[in-house]
Amino acid sequence: MKLKEIYSQKDIEHNGIFEWVKPKISFEVFPPAISVEELYKELEILKKYNPEFVSLTCGAAGKNNDSLEVLKYLKNNLQLNLMPHFTCICNSKEKVADNLKIIESLEIENILALRGDEPSDTQEHYYDFHYANELVEFIKERTNLSVGIAGYPEGHIDCPDIYTDIENLKKKVDAGADAIFTQLFFNNDKFFSYVQLVRDAGIETPIIPGIMPILSYKQITKMTHLANISIPKTLQDKIEQYKDSPKDMKELGIDFASYQCQQLIDAEVAGLHFFTLNKSYSTSQILDNLL
Ligand code: FAD
Repeated sequence: MKLKEIYSQKDIEHNGIFEWVKPKISFEVFPPAISVEELYKELEILKKYNPEFVSLTCGAAGKNNDSLEVLKYLKNNLQLNLMPHFTCICNSKEKVADNLKIIESLEIENILALRGDEPSDTQEHYYDFHYANELVEFIKERTNLSVGIAGYPEGHIDCPDIYTDIENLKKKVDAGADAIFTQLFFNNDKFFSYVQLVRDAGIETPIIPGIMPILSYKQITKMTHLANISIPKTLQDKIEQYKDSPKDMKELGIDFASYQCQQLIDAEVAGLHFFTLNKSYSTSQILDNLL
């Protein structure tokens, strides 16, 4: 099923009354460094939550090839709707067109179109694409894929302010994007005010919050630092308290994400997209707490 149809199931009319439908669940995984069978096992566990789709990240700087191999494996072995992530920076139009043909030949219906980040090395790279809106346009011209894009509740790190970032988000929407998947965040108020700003900018596209359970001190410190993501003080204090206790840290991650998701559900979000980090345990505990 395409993104557009998945998220348009919100607000179904029933006997003249509009009913809100539960948020659609989806999972993000990444191509595993060692064994694709391990990833398969984790997804087998997560399958019972009936995800609408599983999204598969791709390498930075236009390195989509490793991810395509994993995509083929998952497509052949799991009965799940898949959404590959796809980056365009440092990629030629010919290469992107070829990869899109492979994706469509796998009967995949959705794609997450991203700019990606420039590598720090000094190799020569193609620059046929500069921003994700160009990729969205390229995909829409050539394929029948439904396109997801990235959104940043606290602003993208390269962008001077959130208003400019939302103007740039609109370019992706105007190019044909069907859903916006957000970067992780821990402060729901930042998400709610982002949604308001996006709507004020005339964008009606569904905005799906990205939820990342805290798994370890190292993971959370690295992720939030890289993308400049704020952590509420009460949560930060607990993170520091459990710094040397991996078990407590994992439990904190489950409790906090469950609380965060419940608030988002109460606010009637169209979906919840879990960054599983290829581990089923925390995500399944959170979903058990919610369902
Ligand atoms: P863009 O939308 O192009 O935006 C990038 C920056 O340029 C922003 O600051 C924006 O404001 C500005 N900008 C955009 N358009 C224009 C324009 N036309 N003119 C001037 N300025 C403009 N990275 C990976 O490598 N692999 C992944 O699998 C991956 N998955 C992700 C999944 C999600 C849900 C999210 C939120 C991010 C993901 N990323 C991934 C990270 C992403 O590639 C980086 O955040 C990247 O820096 C920006 O990508 P984008 O698609 O948002 O870019």
